[in-house]
Amino acid sequence: MKCQFTRFLILSIIGYALLGCQSENLPVKGSQEHIKTVTKLVDDERLLNASKNPGDWITYGRNYAEDRFSPLDQIDRQTVAGLGLGWALELGTKRGIQATPLVVDGIMFITGPWSTVYAINARNGKVIWKYDPEVPREKAINLCCGVVNRGVALYKGAVIFGTLDGRLISLDASQGSVQWSVQTTSDEDGYRYSITGAPRIVKGKVLIGNGGAEYKARGYVTAYDTRTGDKLWRFYTVPGNPGLPFEHADLEAAAKTWNGRWWEQGGGGTVWDAIVYDQELDQLYIGVGNGVHWDRKVRSPGGGDNLYLSSIVALNPDDGSYLWHYQTTPGDTWDYTATQPIILTDLELDGRTRKVLMQAPKNGFFYMIDRTDGSFISAEPYTYTSWASNIENGRPVETPGARYDDGQVHWITPSSHGGHNWHPMSYSPKTGYVYIPTLHRAGAHYYDSESGFVSPDLRGSGQGYNISAPSKLYLPVAYDEDPRAPSPGTSSGRLVAWDPVKQKEAWGIDQVFHYNGGLLSTAGDLIFQGDAEGMFIARDAYSGEVLWQFDVRSGVNAPPVTYLVDGQQYVSIAVGWGGAQGQSAKVVDRIHPGTIYTFRIGGSAIPPENLPALDRPVTQLTTNASPTTIGNGYNLFSKYCSGCHWGTGRGSGSIPDLTSSSDQVFGAYEDILLNGLLAAQGMPNFGADLHKTDVEKIKAYILFTARSLQEDPENHRTKLAAYQKLADLDNLK
Ligand code: CA
Repeated sequence: MKCQFTRFLILSIIGYALLGCQSENLPVKGSQEHIKTVTKLVDDERLLNASKNPGDWITYGRNYAEDRFSPLDQIDRQTVAGLGLGWALELGTKRGIQATPLVVDGIMFITGPWSTVYAINARNGKVIWKYDPEVPREKAINLCCGVVNRGVALYKGAVIFGTLDGRLISLDASQGSVQWSVQTTSDEDGYRYSITGAPRIVKGKVLIGNGGAEYKARGYVTAYDTRTGDKLWRFYTVPGNPGLPFEHADLEAAAKTWNGRWWEQGGGGTVWDAIVYDQELDQLYIGVGNGVHWDRKVRSPGGGDNLYLSSIVALNPDDGSYLWHYQTTPGDTWDYTATQPIILTDLELDGRTRKVLMQAPKNGFFYMIDRTDGSFISAEPYTYTSWASNIENGRPVETPGARYDDGQVHWITPSSHGGHNWHPMSYSPKTGYVYIPTLHRAGAHYYDSESGFVSPDLRGSGQGYNISAPSKLYLPVAYDEDPRAPSPGTSSGRLVAWDPVKQKEAWGIDQVFHYNGGLLSTAGDLIFQGDAEGMFIARDAYSGEVLWQFDVRSGVNAPPVTYLVDGQQYVSIAVGWGGAQGQSAKVVDRIHPGTIYTFRIGGSAIPPENLPALDRPVTQLTTNASPTTIGNGYNLFSKYCSGCHWGTGRGSGSIPDLTSSSDQVFGAYEDILLNGLLAAQGMPNFGADLHKTDVEKIKAYILFTARSLQEDPENHRTKLAAYQKLADLDNLK
């Protein structure tokens, strides 16, 4: 302690001396003038050379190759033992945080829930400014996966970011004031769209996509002028109505791979995450999402590959024109998006250097694509896959039953959450491994041509609500008997170190929950990751051995970053549990306020206080409703509520488990559901869709579930399935 204090004193004196010298010609670090100076330096030249400037982290994936590998090595396998907390900043938020912080000369720019942006002095963890775009809270009604945001872009003194309600905003980096703001979605159908992804800057243009395929959106990516916000070009990922002129020529070819009247549902194909620029080949790669409806039989009756769903598409960054595409999942029917993070590198394969694009999309296979022309090199499963056995000549070999067209429920792996989701992977050119946060979970899919029942995936009524088809609990089930298959309803994660040259796992670590944070690798031969159990962990990049860990008290979604502050290496991670899975489940016993943790060698700051576990007892209220009413209540709950309150009876995440509501809340159901009492918190007003009798049915289902799970958990599902069948038969009368 004494030694540390002496060191602190000496460092302070040196720091003071340095500051004293600097103050004559340079602005004080953290001042408006300083921020203006250092953020103006982030131009095309700096972005092109981001790899050579390890002190800063100026773009989403650290460089255009998006490898998230830092050449910094002050913190290495030996010194990491001395890593301690430099500072922690509580943001006071209670929803998911997924952002990659950007850092330039010790000034950090990060986004929190509801698309709020913060500028923070990384020297001391003090907020310099905060900008809240005031996203209307009712927007949460048409979001699948939480009120999250993955980060900002920096360019010539501007901080540019997207909002949940589809705006793209440029702020003055020095003070957080708005320079321009554009609506990237149309007024007419804007409610379908949302932005959670980080923009990218390429040659003076800012590129942004959006999400909303589950809400009947039609996917596109747009380029805007970084100075003015003027729209420069737009690329649609799926064809519109073929009766009208196509927006660009290649959509005519794409339309030949569709059937039926897909455009009436929007088509899907949103570009909600990966937008990567290839600075060597001057090409832009976008990762395209799933279609609407998920099931091709419903979306495009008669089949077809449905381009460019689940594809990687290369575009000319100057005008957005199509260059090539590679489709990972032709005729997707499982929500196997290909918008997962993309990493670019050169690799020695079979004796020759190949320019490769690497992706681990949701479908469970790790792809190596030749980025010069999009040709397929290889693909191997990075996790257990039941829908396809292998990829042959670039096309998946699907297994029998994979398209679930026999009226049975099929448990298919990966689930709609994917074998890997948005959580960034990292590639270390030193170890040669790609570190992938993988998900191990099966999803239930079905299509019953007689009844018309489909998997519970199509959301979006006319109002754009979070609505899906009810799960049909009584349909016959075709289980996956493979011993590697995840048991239905269970989930776990696995951190995989993948050798892309051998196309196989080098090592892997099992994790208790399937949603864990993104990865960072460093030249110190370390990898960093936060997990669902609330631990922030440094591992040996070669072996996976735990070398250091810190209890951050809440599950982690976001990826960490590393950078230099006045010559010393720092590591930061933003912690805030939420997002697609964090909304409805958690591993740590309570959800702490969103907090940015920053570490350095010798750091000894006191972490925020650990809050006691929140005890939310299950309601004691009971119901005497009939089985038919409860079955109808389940159908309604499944359709209107389960998109967010998914975990009923399983414990809550950042959105409450309704079986633990207070008597007061149960008493206010009508006001909440039909009059929008909690609209400000993001709870939809279903007044236009539901009647008072529906509200009573939903309440009956929740009260039944609360009792049934307490008293007879073994038979709960069977009982509920029987009640649902009774209700469905009754409705057929
Ligand atoms: Ca999706």
